Amino acid sequence: MSHLKRVLRFFTPEVGICLNCLGCTKVCSQGLAPNILVHLCQAEQYERSMELGLLRCNECGNCEKQCPAHISILAEFTRAKARLGLCDSSSVVEQIST
Ligand code: SF4
Ligand code: SF4
Repeated sequence: MSHLKRVLRFFTPEVGICLNCLGCTKVCSQGLAPNILVHLCQAEQYERSMELGLLRCNECGNCEKQCPAHISILAEFTRAKARLGLCDSSSVVEQIST
């Protein structure tokens, strides 16, 4: 977790913590479970996240728009893909800073 995110979570603890509302799972255009995938990516369990379809994510953004906890789902996925060498890590910085 970046320093900025740690600071944000300290001052706004309600932001970034999954509420298990399952809203993201209902709107995923690929039939994925973004809540589980984001948890796995945050825990750096990349192999398991790929088994559960991380690479099928088409980055439509439906899950993130739906998320009442404002979790940066796409940034977590992009960071995971960068760690796996599947995308340019500069796009991670771009997503996190926006
Ligand atoms: S961004 Fe990926 S995980 Fe989220 S709703 Fe779209 S396809 Fe599903
Ligand atoms: S929409 Fe957000 S809070 Fe709800 S289950 Fe998905 S990740 Fe968790």
